[in-house]
Amino acid sequence: MTIWLSSHALRLMCRYARELSPLENGGILLGWRSGEDYVIVDLRGPGPRALHGLHCFIPDHAWQMNELSRAFEHSGGDLDYLGDWHSHPNGSAEMSDLDSATLLRIARQVKAPLMLIVAGSGGDWSPRCWKGHLAGPLLWRRLAAAPQEVKVFHSPAAWPGSSTVRTIEAGQLTQDS
Ligand SMILES: [Zn+2]
Repeated sequence: MTIWLSSHALRLMCRYARELSPLENGGILLGWRSGEDYVIVDLRGPGPRALHGLHCFIPDHAWQMNELSRAFEHSGGDLDYLGDWHSHPNGSAEMSDLDSATLLRIARQVKAPLMLIVAGSGGDWSPRCWKGHLAGPLLWRRLAAAPQEVKVFHSPAAWPGSSTVRTIEAGQLTQDS
């Protein structure tokens, strides 16, 4: 399976990350699932009441929930929540213990959510992505987080447009060189 990340979403993410560096920044990933693949076409930032630290980030959950329902309605139900993203300024794109705990919490509510980390500094940021799912016996559920292949595909800045989002299947996408 592949995580398809639109160049538009990647640009946005890097801008958010750069703006607050060396503090962490983050938000939610929007798009759809296509078979085993995920197609990330848009994202939202932290929200006004988010907390930003050098090694932690706590989003404004109420704001994000509101943004999510707006995006869902605006797209006629095409844009859905796929997972969280955040930055690791001057760090590596690896999951911290806190990140694993966050992904476990999300996985209890959403099936197979993503955790995307963009690491870097200045104008140079690169994304890595994990998919979380619950494993183990019912009372001892633990998180299994598997790294995923991320492919960036070209998308015009205006897509998905303000009026209608056209859901496309992952098989129609090609990697941006
Ligand atoms: Zn982190």
